[in-house]
Amino acid sequence: MPDFKNFIGGKWIAPSTREYFDNVNPADKSDVIGRFPLSGDDDVEDAVQSAKCGFEVWRKTPAPARGDVLRRVGDIMTRRKDEIADLMTREMGKPLTETRGDVQEGIDTAYYAASEGRRLFGHTVPSEMRNKWAMSYRRPIGICGIVTPFNFPMAIPTWKMFPALLCGNACIFKPAEDVPHTGTVLVEILLEAGLPPEVIQLVHGVGETVGASIVSHPEIPVISFTGSTETGRIVGETCGRMHKRLSLEMGGKNAMIVLDDANLELALDGVLWGAFGTTGQRCTATSRLILQRGIHDRFLGQLVDRVRSLKLGDGRKKGTDVGPLVNENAREKVERYIDIGQSEGADLLCGGRRPPGKEYDKGFFFEPTIFARVEAGMRLEQEEIFGPVLSVVRVDSADEAFAINNDVRYGLSSSLYTQDVGIAFRALNELDNGITYVNAPTIGAEAHLPFGGVKQTGNGHREGGWEVYEFYSETKVGYVDFSGSLQRAQIDNYLGTPD
Ligand code: NAD
Repeated sequence: MPDFKNFIGGKWIAPSTREYFDNVNPADKSDVIGRFPLSGDDDVEDAVQSAKCGFEVWRKTPAPARGDVLRRVGDIMTRRKDEIADLMTREMGKPLTETRGDVQEGIDTAYYAASEGRRLFGHTVPSEMRNKWAMSYRRPIGICGIVTPFNFPMAIPTWKMFPALLCGNACIFKPAEDVPHTGTVLVEILLEAGLPPEVIQLVHGVGETVGASIVSHPEIPVISFTGSTETGRIVGETCGRMHKRLSLEMGGKNAMIVLDDANLELALDGVLWGAFGTTGQRCTATSRLILQRGIHDRFLGQLVDRVRSLKLGDGRKKGTDVGPLVNENAREKVERYIDIGQSEGADLLCGGRRPPGKEYDKGFFFEPTIFARVEAGMRLEQEEIFGPVLSVVRVDSADEAFAINNDVRYGLSSSLYTQDVGIAFRALNELDNGITYVNAPTIGAEAHLPFGGVKQTGNGHREGGWEVYEFYSETKVGYVDFSGSLQRAQIDNYLGTPD
């Protein structure tokens, strides 16, 4: 079984601790992909000292040249797309169609970043003085600590690192413990594309040690974290105390609303993909389905039939619709919510158990599950489960549906199925989320638009698109006075009242 390494100080090296953990295929626990470093504080310290050298080189590299490296990254990822998708499915379970999409999101993000190298706009504005020039422009910040979750092993690290690198920063990257192989391949690709080695450092390990060490290191001024709201709170407390620039992308409890006038076939396809794709382990997963009374029974009947016919299995096998959960802890968490749902009085319509059969004993499988008669306010309706569990709530009106959508602590994405354009636009205004889809499920973000949520899903920053470049760069303003005399702003100009 191969021992994988960290990438620190421009070299692939073993962890200072000499300790490792096994990376296991969630569809078959006997398939161990390799052993990955259980790094410690010393490894993070070495990474920081090297990244400081990398930053000095990289920040002086012109942004279009930095973009060129990222363009080559996109080319290499395109060439290796199927191979990366296969190794990603092997380590985290989602079917190959989805892992190919995950890699494609990285490719899109690379090409977007490459083009941004020739923009990185600032502003030039008129000065209030004569013979004086005034402009704002962007500067790199320093070392960015990148801490990422397991569910989009390629897309999420690229959302963070590509803009950070394009802006001229160095990165220290800690992938989630369940997906260290995809993280390793991403770093290999950055190096093959020509990134100066010390600009990127890869430190594998456990969140509470390596993650916490990165977050609290005084020489890492920028932290970008995606993960659970609970971990995000810990990260946020440290960063707040240390005055760090912090981007948090956290949990969700996303709802799809289907009104009486909706195209039901379309909505059925949408909810199957939104709720059970990635085995429900997406921040944007549809975990609440809000149905208007007129279509409630019919829609639910059809949905249960469709869910029962989903093929559960190894994501690398043809025909698999739903893969395993990522690990045993994730499966036990789902099982706790099955008990909670039943004790709260919701109706378990299908699923709710580990699938019977020998082939499923090998992995962390769980049947796609639907609870009906879920009431607003139940824990099942309020809390993020992060598994293949859909809670169905019945409502009388669009207004009631909107209120239920908004009455949770999260605010990532929402979705509305209707033919009424007036209600669709009201939803865009009134649903309290970072993203609202009309006649499409709660998942489907595109790399060139801002991505993120409100309330306890985020802290006001966005990934993707153009806004993220502001997070990874510092705005500086320059004034050049070529009048040859002292001109005092607000005092010597023509704006005053004549004496
Ligand atoms: P997690 O919070 O368990 O872990 C995320 C990362 O943080 C991992 O790399 C982990 O090792 C690290 N970590 C853990 N404890 C830490 C600590 N004390 N200090 C620093 N780092 C620490 O999340 P997960 O289970 O990997 O991912 C699932 C969660 O991520 C869900 O809540 C999901 O909604 C969220 N998520 C959000 C988005 C988004 O964009 N909003 C996207 C994907 C996933």
